[in-house]
Amino acid sequence: MNSELFIADYLETSLLDWEGKISCVLFLAGCNFRCPWCQNRKLVLEETKNQIPIKEILEKFKSKKNWIDGFVITGGEPTINRNLKKIISQIKDNNFLVKLDTNGSKFEVIKELISDGLVDSIAMDIKTSLEKEKYNKACGVEVNLSDINHTIEVLLNSNIDILFRTTAVSGIVDTDDIKKIIKIVKGKKYIVQKFVPRNTLDKNYADVKPYSEQDMKKMEEMCYAELF
Ligand code: SF4
Repeated sequence: MNSELFIADYLETSLLDWEGKISCVLFLAGCNFRCPWCQNRKLVLEETKNQIPIKEILEKFKSKKNWIDGFVITGGEPTINRNLKKIISQIKDNNFLVKLDTNGSKFEVIKELISDGLVDSIAMDIKTSLEKEKYNKACGVEVNLSDINHTIEVLLNSNIDILFRTTAVSGIVDTDDIKKIIKIVKGKKYIVQKFVPRNTLDKNYADVKPYSEQDMKKMEEMCYAELF
């Protein structure tokens, strides 16, 4: 049986994907959501397959240990990959830090990774306010909101570094949604990201006008005022 573990793609070094850290970003193909504004089409639809052996990447970094602080595992949605725990274990065996990006739909997976000490940081996307219709629209599928709520609860109660984030897509997220999310994530880091209408999963979203710099600034200020 082939026990090799594979990822879809990687970015050798990034200063943007983990605040304050230099990281190598690993992309895993496949996602259980279909957010219409998503820009990771190839990974989500698995046009880019998981075919690069993780061993190959770890081998590369063994001799360059000082280059990076750790690995960011992103997607697609990494928690649907049945080899995720094994992949992270291999990274941890090589003494690197690990950050996981997730849509929060698989709370059992996340809970286990935290309790096994396999992740040092988690960034979870909260797509919009936690109302069924809205959330389904934002994710392009029927979402189990109870699982999302469970994940948020697990993250709020964990001692590792947690970041919640929302992409401000007009028609999906407005200032009222941001206010509601802020109330839920209080005490943890939270950022609102700008939506860039490029290469979207649903082509109609390429025509959605992003919020202006001024609107984004207002949202940022609101977060700052409410959270600190
Ligand atoms: S934005 Fe949505 S569809 Fe795209 S990778 Fe994230 S969860 Fe999946």
